[in-house]
Amino acid sequence: MYKIPKEEEIRKAIYKALKKHGSFDSLNKLREGILEELKKMNEFYTISLKRARILTARSGFVRLEVKKKHTKKKIKKCPVCGGKLIEIKNLNLYGEEVVIAYKCQLCNYRSKIYEMPVRYAFHFARY
Ligand SMILES: [Zn+2]
Repeated sequence: MYKIPKEEEIRKAIYKALKKHGSFDSLNKLREGILEELKKMNEFYTISLKRARILTARSGFVRLEVKKKHTKKKIKKCPVCGGKLIEIKNLNLYGEEVVIAYKCQLCNYRSKIYEMPVRYAFHFARY
């Protein structure tokens, strides 16, 4: 049996886990750290890797470090948190506007076009 925690409870757990550990060098370890805090609230609580990643990226007190790899796919939304991407444009040799990079409005993830995240690290950042 398991229960799904509310978003607000997860945010608290993320904050506590990062304050305690300072940083996590993988998404799996981040999830374990969050889960440890969630279990203190309710032993049946659980969280998926995806939800842990999305809510942590959008939390506002985490600095993300993302290792990327080349991809042929065109990125339509933020691969980290699913947020809307802002296109960063430049002019090419012919004076035409071309998209060269993306930035996420919600989590600040940045990437060049044709790049996908492969590994994450999460650092506690107090603003
Ligand atoms: Zn994002």
